[in-house]
Amino acid sequence: MKVYKFGGTSVGLPERMQSIARLITEDSEPKIVVLSALSGTTNSLVNIGEALNSRKQDVAHLLINDIEKHYLNFIQALYSADESRQKAIATINRIFSEIRALGHIPDFNAGNNKSLLAYGEILSTHLFHYYLNEIQIKNELLNSLDFMRINSEGEPDLQYVSEQLAHSINVDTRLYIAQGFICRNAYGQTDNLKRGGSDYTASLIGAALKVDEIQIWTDIDGMHNNDPRIVKGTQPIEELTFDEAAELAYFGAKILHPATILPAQKYGIPVRLKSTIDPNASGTLIGINSDKADVKAIAAKDDITAIKIKSSRMLLAYGFLKNIFEIFGQYKTSIDMITTSEVAVSLTIDNTQNIDEIVGALEKFGTVTIDKNQSIICIVGNMLSEKKGLLNKIFKNLDEIPIRMVSYGGSRSNISLLVDTKYKNETLTQLNRLFTS
Ligand code: ASP
Ligand code: MG
Repeated sequence: MKVYKFGGTSVGLPERMQSIARLITEDSEPKIVVLSALSGTTNSLVNIGEALNSRKQDVAHLLINDIEKHYLNFIQALYSADESRQKAIATINRIFSEIRALGHIPDFNAGNNKSLLAYGEILSTHLFHYYLNEIQIKNELLNSLDFMRINSEGEPDLQYVSEQLAHSINVDTRLYIAQGFICRNAYGQTDNLKRGGSDYTASLIGAALKVDEIQIWTDIDGMHNNDPRIVKGTQPIEELTFDEAAELAYFGAKILHPATILPAQKYGIPVRLKSTIDPNASGTLIGINSDKADVKAIAAKDDITAIKIKSSRMLLAYGFLKNIFEIFGQYKTSIDMITTSEVAVSLTIDNTQNIDEIVGALEKFGTVTIDKNQSIICIVGNMLSEKKGLLNKIFKNLDEIPIRMVSYGGSRSNISLLVDTKYKNETLTQLNRLFTS
Protein backbone atom coordinates (compact mmCIF):
# COMPACT_ATOMS: atom_id res chain seq x y z
CA MET A 1 0.00 0.00 0.00
CA LYS A 2 1.10 3.57 -0.69
CA VAL A 3 -0.02 6.97 0.57
CA TYR A 4 -0.45 9.72 -2.03
CA LYS A 5 -0.92 13.33 -0.95
CA PHE A 6 -2.12 16.11 -3.23
CA GLY A 7 -1.88 19.77 -2.24
CA GLY A 8 -4.28 22.64 -2.81
CA THR A 9 -3.10 23.54 -6.31
CA SER A 10 -3.41 19.90 -7.45
CA VAL A 11 -7.11 19.91 -6.56
CA GLY A 12 -7.78 23.64 -7.01
CA LEU A 13 -9.34 23.44 -10.49
CA PRO A 14 -11.95 20.93 -11.71
CA GLU A 15 -9.67 19.68 -14.51
CA ARG A 16 -6.81 19.15 -12.05
CA MET A 17 -9.03 17.11 -9.78
CA GLN A 18 -10.01 15.04 -12.80
CA SER A 19 -6.41 14.49 -13.79
CA ILE A 20 -5.36 13.30 -10.32
CA ALA A 21 -8.23 10.81 -10.48
CA ARG A 22 -6.61 9.42 -13.63
CA LEU A 23 -3.17 9.51 -12.05
CA ILE A 24 -4.09 7.46 -8.97
CA THR A 25 -5.75 4.78 -11.07
CA GLU A 26 -2.83 4.23 -13.44
CA ASP A 27 -1.65 1.22 -11.50
CA SER A 28 -3.41 -1.28 -9.28
CA GLU A 29 -1.39 -0.54 -6.13
CA PRO A 30 -3.75 -0.02 -3.13
CA LYS A 31 -3.66 3.60 -2.00
CA ILE A 32 -4.75 6.05 0.62
CA VAL A 33 -5.10 9.45 -1.00
CA VAL A 34 -4.77 12.46 1.30
CA LEU A 35 -6.09 15.78 0.01
CA SER A 36 -5.61 19.39 1.08
CA ALA A 37 -8.36 21.95 0.70
CA LEU A 38 -8.76 23.57 -2.74
CA SER A 39 -6.14 26.30 -3.09
CA GLY A 40 -7.28 29.52 -1.45
CA THR A 41 -9.93 27.89 0.72
CA THR A 42 -8.00 27.65 3.98
CA ASN A 43 -6.88 31.26 3.56
CA SER A 44 -10.52 32.30 3.06
CA LEU A 45 -11.58 30.35 6.13
CA VAL A 46 -8.80 32.04 8.12
CA ASN A 47 -10.16 35.42 6.97
CA ILE A 48 -13.70 34.44 7.94
CA GLY A 49 -12.43 33.33 11.35
CA GLU A 50 -10.62 36.63 11.84
CA ALA A 51 -13.73 38.58 10.93
CA LEU A 52 -15.84 36.55 13.39
CA ASN A 53 -13.19 36.90 16.04
CA SER A 54 -13.30 40.69 15.75
CA ARG A 55 -17.14 40.52 15.71
CA LYS A 56 -17.44 41.69 12.11
CA GLN A 57 -20.32 39.38 11.22
CA ASP A 58 -21.19 41.33 8.08
CA VAL A 59 -17.66 40.92 6.66
CA ALA A 60 -17.70 37.21 7.51
CA HIS A 61 -21.11 36.86 5.88
CA LEU A 62 -19.87 38.27 2.55
CA LEU A 63 -16.76 36.09 2.60
CA ILE A 64 -18.87 32.98 3.28
CA ASN A 65 -21.15 33.80 0.32
CA ASP A 66 -18.10 34.23 -1.94
CA ILE A 67 -16.55 30.92 -1.13
CA GLU A 68 -19.86 29.11 -1.34
CA LYS A 69 -20.33 30.55 -4.84
CA HIS A 70 -16.85 29.33 -5.77
CA TYR A 71 -17.80 25.77 -4.79
CA LEU A 72 -21.12 25.87 -6.61
CA ASN A 73 -19.28 26.92 -9.81
CA PHE A 74 -16.53 24.38 -9.27
CA ILE A 75 -18.90 21.42 -9.20
CA GLN A 76 -20.63 22.49 -12.41
CA ALA A 77 -17.39 21.90 -14.29
CA LEU A 78 -16.27 18.88 -12.27
CA TYR A 79 -19.18 16.52 -12.88
CA SER A 80 -21.04 15.42 -15.98
CA ALA A 81 -23.91 13.65 -14.25
CA ASP A 82 -26.74 15.49 -12.54
CA GLU A 83 -26.83 12.85 -9.86
CA SER A 84 -23.26 13.73 -8.78
CA ARG A 85 -24.06 17.44 -8.88
CA GLN A 86 -27.08 16.89 -6.65
CA LYS A 87 -25.01 14.98 -4.12
CA ALA A 88 -22.31 17.65 -4.14
CA ILE A 89 -24.88 20.44 -3.77
CA ALA A 90 -26.44 18.67 -0.80
CA THR A 91 -23.00 18.40 0.86
CA ILE A 92 -22.12 22.02 0.09
CA ASN A 93 -25.49 23.15 1.51
CA ARG A 94 -24.96 21.15 4.66
CA ILE A 95 -21.39 22.38 5.20
CA PHE A 96 -22.21 26.01 4.52
CA SER A 97 -25.15 25.95 6.89
CA GLU A 98 -22.77 24.58 9.56
CA ILE A 99 -20.30 27.36 8.72
CA ARG A 100 -23.07 29.98 9.00
CA ALA A 101 -24.12 28.46 12.32
CA LEU A 102 -20.56 28.95 13.60
CA GLY A 103 -20.86 32.57 12.48
CA HIS A 104 -23.86 33.03 14.75
CA ILE A 105 -22.09 31.90 17.90
CA PRO A 106 -22.02 35.10 20.03
CA ASP A 107 -18.63 34.47 21.66
CA PHE A 108 -16.85 32.80 18.74
CA ASN A 109 -13.62 31.39 20.19
CA ALA A 110 -10.39 29.65 19.18
CA GLY A 111 -12.06 26.23 19.33
CA ASN A 112 -14.87 27.37 16.99
CA ASN A 113 -12.22 28.74 14.67
CA LYS A 114 -10.55 25.32 14.43
CA SER A 115 -13.89 23.73 13.53
CA LEU A 116 -14.24 26.39 10.84
CA LEU A 117 -10.77 25.71 9.35
CA ALA A 118 -11.54 21.99 9.06
CA TYR A 119 -14.24 22.48 6.41
CA GLY A 120 -11.75 23.06 3.56
CA GLU A 121 -10.48 19.48 3.61
CA ILE A 122 -13.94 18.08 4.33
CA LEU A 123 -15.22 19.82 1.18
CA SER A 124 -12.35 18.80 -1.13
CA THR A 125 -12.48 15.12 -0.16
CA HIS A 126 -16.26 14.88 -0.56
CA LEU A 127 -16.14 16.46 -4.01
CA PHE A 128 -13.34 14.13 -5.08
CA HIS A 129 -15.13 11.07 -3.67
CA TYR A 130 -18.27 11.89 -5.67
CA TYR A 131 -16.16 12.41 -8.78
CA LEU A 132 -14.50 8.99 -8.41
CA ASN A 133 -17.94 7.46 -7.96
CA GLU A 134 -19.15 9.20 -11.09
CA ILE A 135 -16.36 7.71 -13.19
CA GLN A 136 -16.93 4.36 -11.48
CA ILE A 137 -13.77 4.05 -9.51
CA LYS A 138 -14.48 2.16 -6.35
CA ASN A 139 -13.30 4.15 -3.33
CA GLU A 140 -14.06 4.75 0.31
CA LEU A 141 -14.07 8.14 2.00
CA LEU A 142 -12.44 8.09 5.43
CA ASN A 143 -13.06 10.68 8.13
CA SER A 144 -9.67 11.79 9.45
CA LEU A 145 -11.35 13.08 12.61
CA ASP A 146 -12.03 9.42 13.48
CA PHE A 147 -8.36 8.44 13.58
CA MET A 148 -5.99 11.43 13.54
CA ARG A 149 -5.35 12.69 17.06
CA ILE A 150 -2.88 14.97 18.85
CA ASN A 151 -2.12 14.77 22.57
CA SER A 152 -2.26 17.60 25.08
CA GLU A 153 1.23 18.73 23.95
CA GLY A 154 -0.02 19.07 20.38
CA GLU A 155 2.00 16.01 19.29
CA PRO A 156 0.42 13.29 17.14
CA ASP A 157 -0.52 10.12 18.96
CA LEU A 158 0.78 7.56 16.47
CA GLN A 159 -0.28 4.55 18.53
CA TYR A 160 -3.88 5.77 18.51
CA VAL A 161 -3.73 6.59 14.79
CA SER A 162 -2.49 3.05 14.03
CA GLU A 163 -5.15 1.38 16.15
CA GLN A 164 -8.00 3.43 14.74
CA LEU A 165 -6.87 3.13 11.15
CA ALA A 166 -6.57 -0.63 11.47
CA HIS A 167 -10.33 -0.74 12.11
CA SER A 168 -11.11 1.38 9.03
CA ILE A 169 -8.92 -0.36 6.46
CA ASN A 170 -9.84 -3.69 4.87
CA VAL A 171 -8.21 -5.78 2.19
CA ASP A 172 -11.10 -5.54 -0.24
CA THR A 173 -10.92 -1.78 -0.65
CA ARG A 174 -8.02 -0.62 -2.78
CA LEU A 175 -8.59 3.12 -2.69
CA TYR A 176 -9.26 5.33 0.31
CA ILE A 177 -9.64 9.11 0.40
CA ALA A 178 -8.83 11.06 3.58
CA GLN A 179 -8.61 14.68 4.68
CA GLY A 180 -5.17 16.15 5.32
CA PHE A 181 -4.54 18.75 8.03
CA ILE A 182 -7.49 18.00 10.34
CA CYS A 183 -7.46 16.00 13.56
CA ARG A 184 -8.93 15.87 17.03
CA ASN A 185 -7.10 17.08 20.10
CA ALA A 186 -6.74 15.35 23.48
CA TYR A 187 -10.20 16.63 24.49
CA GLY A 188 -11.92 15.26 21.39
CA GLN A 189 -12.36 18.70 19.81
CA THR A 190 -11.68 19.39 16.15
CA ASP A 191 -8.13 20.65 15.70
CA ASN A 192 -5.44 20.70 13.01
CA LEU A 193 -1.77 19.93 12.33
CA LYS A 194 -0.98 23.62 11.56
CA ARG A 195 -0.83 25.32 8.18
CA GLY A 196 0.55 23.12 5.43
CA GLY A 197 -0.10 20.12 7.67
CA SER A 198 -1.55 17.79 5.03
CA ASP A 199 1.96 16.52 4.22
CA TYR A 200 2.25 15.61 7.87
CA THR A 201 -1.09 13.76 7.75
CA ALA A 202 0.22 11.72 4.83
CA SER A 203 3.38 10.69 6.63
CA LEU A 204 1.53 9.93 9.88
CA ILE A 205 -0.88 7.65 8.01
CA GLY A 206 2.07 6.10 6.17
CA ALA A 207 3.92 5.44 9.43
CA ALA A 208 0.80 4.18 11.21
CA LEU A 209 0.14 1.61 8.47
CA LYS A 210 3.83 1.04 7.67
CA VAL A 211 3.15 1.51 3.97
CA ASP A 212 5.71 0.92 1.21
CA GLU A 213 6.00 4.57 0.18
CA ILE A 214 4.62 8.03 0.87
CA GLN A 215 4.28 10.23 -2.21
CA ILE A 216 3.82 13.97 -1.88
CA TRP A 217 2.51 15.44 -5.12
CA THR A 218 2.86 19.18 -5.79
CA ASP A 219 3.36 21.39 -8.81
CA ILE A 220 7.16 21.44 -8.33
CA ASP A 221 9.40 18.67 -9.65
CA GLY A 222 11.11 17.89 -6.33
CA MET A 223 13.44 19.62 -3.87
CA HIS A 224 15.91 21.80 -5.69
CA ASN A 225 19.61 22.18 -5.03
CA ASN A 226 19.22 25.93 -4.47
CA ASP A 227 16.45 28.52 -4.26
CA PRO A 228 14.94 28.74 -7.78
CA ARG A 229 13.56 32.21 -7.04
CA ILE A 230 17.07 33.54 -6.56
CA VAL A 231 19.52 31.30 -8.40
CA LYS A 232 19.12 30.44 -12.08
CA GLY A 233 19.37 26.88 -13.40
CA THR A 234 18.69 25.01 -10.16
CA GLN A 235 18.06 21.27 -10.46
CA PRO A 236 15.81 18.84 -8.60
CA ILE A 237 17.81 16.66 -6.23
CA GLU A 238 17.34 12.98 -7.06
CA GLU A 239 18.05 11.44 -3.69
CA LEU A 240 18.35 12.64 -0.11
CA THR A 241 18.78 10.95 3.24
CA PHE A 242 16.06 11.61 5.83
CA ASP A 243 18.42 13.92 7.76
CA GLU A 244 19.29 15.97 4.71
CA ALA A 245 15.63 16.34 3.74
CA ALA A 246 14.68 17.35 7.29
CA GLU A 247 17.36 20.09 7.28
CA LEU A 248 16.23 21.35 3.89
CA ALA A 249 12.53 21.31 4.73
CA TYR A 250 13.17 23.21 7.93
CA PHE A 251 15.69 25.65 6.54
CA GLY A 252 14.02 26.80 3.41
CA ALA A 253 12.63 24.44 0.82
CA LYS A 254 8.94 25.35 1.02
CA ILE A 255 7.90 22.20 -0.79
CA LEU A 256 7.51 20.00 2.27
CA HIS A 257 6.12 20.57 5.77
CA PRO A 258 9.21 20.11 8.02
CA ALA A 259 7.52 17.69 10.45
CA THR A 260 6.72 15.26 7.61
CA ILE A 261 10.10 13.55 7.68
CA LEU A 262 9.98 12.38 11.29
CA PRO A 263 7.28 9.66 11.19
CA ALA A 264 8.60 8.33 7.87
CA GLN A 265 12.15 8.23 9.19
CA LYS A 266 11.07 6.42 12.34
CA TYR A 267 9.82 3.46 10.29
CA GLY A 268 12.18 3.83 7.34
CA ILE A 269 9.38 4.57 4.87
CA PRO A 270 10.64 6.31 1.72
CA VAL A 271 9.05 9.67 0.86
CA ARG A 272 8.90 10.60 -2.81
CA LEU A 273 8.23 14.16 -3.98
CA LYS A 274 6.47 14.15 -7.34
CA SER A 275 5.06 16.73 -9.71
CA THR A 276 1.53 16.63 -11.11
CA ILE A 277 2.75 18.82 -13.98
CA ASP A 278 5.35 16.27 -15.06
CA PRO A 279 4.23 12.97 -13.50
CA ASN A 280 6.90 10.96 -15.29
CA ALA A 281 9.80 13.00 -13.87
CA SER A 282 11.54 11.08 -11.11
CA GLY A 283 11.22 13.87 -8.51
CA THR A 284 13.10 13.55 -5.23
CA LEU A 285 13.41 10.33 -3.28
CA ILE A 286 13.95 10.81 0.47
CA GLY A 287 15.15 7.97 2.65
CA ILE A 288 18.22 6.54 1.03
CA ASN A 289 21.32 5.60 3.01
CA SER A 290 24.37 7.26 1.66
CA ASP A 291 27.98 7.53 2.64
CA LYS A 292 28.95 9.42 -0.45
CA ALA A 293 30.60 12.72 0.41
CA ASP A 294 28.59 15.31 -1.34
CA VAL A 295 27.13 18.77 -0.97
CA LYS A 296 23.58 18.27 -2.18
CA ALA A 297 21.74 21.52 -1.70
CA ILE A 298 21.76 25.02 -0.32
CA ALA A 299 18.73 26.68 1.21
CA ALA A 300 18.02 29.88 3.11
CA LYS A 301 15.67 30.77 5.91
CA ASP A 302 14.78 34.45 6.44
CA ASP A 303 13.38 36.47 9.32
CA ILE A 304 15.99 35.20 11.71
CA THR A 305 16.94 37.18 14.81
CA ALA A 306 20.39 36.76 16.34
CA ILE A 307 20.80 37.27 20.07
CA LYS A 308 24.18 37.70 21.74
CA ILE A 309 24.62 37.40 25.49
CA LYS A 310 27.98 38.60 26.73
CA SER A 311 29.13 38.13 30.26
CA SER A 312 32.43 37.95 32.02
CA ARG A 313 30.67 35.75 34.55
CA MET A 314 30.63 33.03 31.96
CA LEU A 315 34.38 32.70 32.23
CA LEU A 316 35.17 29.43 34.01
CA ALA A 317 31.60 29.18 35.24
CA TYR A 318 29.28 26.22 34.81
CA GLY A 319 25.51 26.31 34.41
CA PHE A 320 25.58 29.48 32.34
CA LEU A 321 24.25 27.84 29.16
CA LYS A 322 21.66 25.94 31.16
CA ASN A 323 20.31 29.19 32.61
CA ILE A 324 20.15 30.77 29.18
CA PHE A 325 18.44 27.79 27.54
CA GLU A 326 15.92 27.60 30.37
CA ILE A 327 14.68 31.07 29.50
CA PHE A 328 14.04 30.08 25.87
CA GLY A 329 12.35 26.88 27.06
CA GLN A 330 10.12 28.80 29.41
CA TYR A 331 8.91 31.00 26.54
CA LYS A 332 8.52 27.98 24.19
CA THR A 333 10.96 29.53 21.72
CA SER A 334 13.20 27.18 19.83
CA ILE A 335 16.81 27.98 19.03
CA ASP A 336 18.16 27.22 15.56
CA MET A 337 21.86 28.06 15.59
CA ILE A 338 24.23 28.50 18.47
CA THR A 339 27.90 29.47 18.80
CA THR A 340 29.84 30.06 21.97
CA SER A 341 33.07 31.64 23.10
CA GLU A 342 34.44 31.79 26.60
CA VAL A 343 32.65 35.05 27.37
CA ALA A 344 29.67 35.14 25.04
CA VAL A 345 26.95 33.07 23.42
CA SER A 346 25.26 33.91 20.14
CA LEU A 347 22.12 32.14 19.09
CA THR A 348 19.29 32.55 16.62
CA ILE A 349 15.53 32.28 16.81
CA ASP A 350 12.79 32.72 14.24
CA ASN A 351 9.82 33.06 16.56
CA THR A 352 10.05 36.53 18.10
CA GLN A 353 6.64 36.49 19.77
CA ASN A 354 8.14 36.63 23.28
CA ILE A 355 11.38 38.40 22.48
CA ASP A 356 10.86 41.30 24.92
CA GLU A 357 10.27 38.93 27.84
CA ILE A 358 13.22 36.76 26.76
CA VAL A 359 15.60 39.72 26.51
CA GLY A 360 14.37 41.01 29.87
CA ALA A 361 15.19 37.68 31.48
CA LEU A 362 18.55 37.32 29.68
CA GLU A 363 19.72 40.73 30.86
CA LYS A 364 20.17 39.26 34.33
CA PHE A 365 23.04 37.21 32.90
CA GLY A 366 24.89 39.76 30.78
CA THR A 367 24.74 42.36 28.04
CA VAL A 368 22.27 41.42 25.34
CA THR A 369 22.56 42.54 21.70
CA ILE A 370 19.96 41.82 19.03
CA ASP A 371 20.43 41.67 15.24
CA LYS A 372 17.25 41.44 13.22
CA ASN A 373 16.78 40.63 9.51
CA GLN A 374 19.28 37.81 9.39
CA SER A 375 19.19 34.75 7.13
CA ILE A 376 20.46 31.27 7.83
CA ILE A 377 22.19 29.79 4.81
CA CYS A 378 22.13 26.08 5.16
CA ILE A 379 24.48 23.83 3.20
CA VAL A 380 23.17 20.28 3.18
CA GLY A 381 24.91 17.06 2.25
CA ASN A 382 27.27 14.52 3.67
CA MET A 383 29.98 16.83 5.03
CA LEU A 384 32.12 15.06 7.56
CA SER A 385 33.33 12.56 5.05
CA GLU A 386 34.37 15.32 2.68
CA LYS A 387 38.04 14.75 3.03
CA LYS A 388 39.62 18.13 3.41
CA GLY A 389 39.30 21.75 2.64
CA LEU A 390 35.52 22.11 2.52
CA LEU A 391 35.33 25.04 4.93
CA ASN A 392 38.25 26.66 3.23
CA LYS A 393 36.46 26.38 -0.12
CA ILE A 394 33.30 27.88 1.31
CA PHE A 395 34.96 30.83 3.00
CA LYS A 396 37.20 31.60 0.04
CA ASN A 397 34.12 31.94 -2.13
CA LEU A 398 32.37 34.14 0.39
CA ASP A 399 35.31 36.46 0.78
CA GLU A 400 33.26 39.62 0.33
CA ILE A 401 30.40 38.61 2.61
CA PRO A 402 30.37 39.40 6.33
CA ILE A 403 29.42 36.15 8.05
CA ARG A 404 27.83 36.70 11.45
CA MET A 405 27.83 33.08 12.71
CA VAL A 406 29.00 29.64 11.57
CA SER A 407 27.79 26.28 12.76
CA TYR A 408 29.70 23.20 11.65
CA GLY A 409 29.87 19.68 13.04
CA GLY A 410 26.51 19.70 14.84
CA SER A 411 25.45 17.04 12.39
CA ARG A 412 27.24 15.53 9.44
CA SER A 413 24.55 16.73 7.10
CA ASN A 414 24.64 20.46 7.65
CA ILE A 415 26.80 23.56 7.73
CA SER A 416 24.91 26.73 8.62
CA LEU A 417 26.02 30.31 8.08
CA LEU A 418 24.26 33.38 9.38
CA VAL A 419 24.37 36.50 7.22
CA ASP A 420 22.43 39.75 7.10
CA THR A 421 19.50 39.16 4.73
CA LYS A 422 20.85 41.82 2.38
CA TYR A 423 23.71 39.43 1.56
CA LYS A 424 21.48 36.39 1.06
CA ASN A 425 21.16 36.43 -2.72
CA GLU A 426 24.86 36.94 -3.21
CA THR A 427 25.69 34.14 -0.76
CA LEU A 428 23.33 31.68 -2.47
CA THR A 429 24.67 32.56 -5.89
CA GLN A 430 28.33 32.26 -4.84
CA LEU A 431 27.74 28.92 -3.16
CA ASN A 432 25.82 27.64 -6.16
CA ARG A 433 28.77 28.42 -8.36
CA LEU A 434 31.08 26.65 -5.94
CA PHE A 435 29.12 23.42 -5.69
CA THR A 436 27.86 23.05 -9.20
CA SER A 437 31.05 23.86 -11.06
N1 ASP B 1 -5.26 23.39 3.83
C1 ASP B 1 -4.24 23.54 4.84
C2 ASP B 1 -3.45 24.81 4.58
O1 ASP B 1 -3.71 25.50 3.61
C3 ASP B 1 -3.35 22.36 4.95
C4 ASP B 1 -2.50 22.06 3.73
O2 ASP B 1 -2.77 22.58 2.65
O3 ASP B 1 -1.53 21.31 3.86
O4 ASP B 1 -2.61 25.14 5.35
MG1 MG C 1 1.79 22.34 1.17
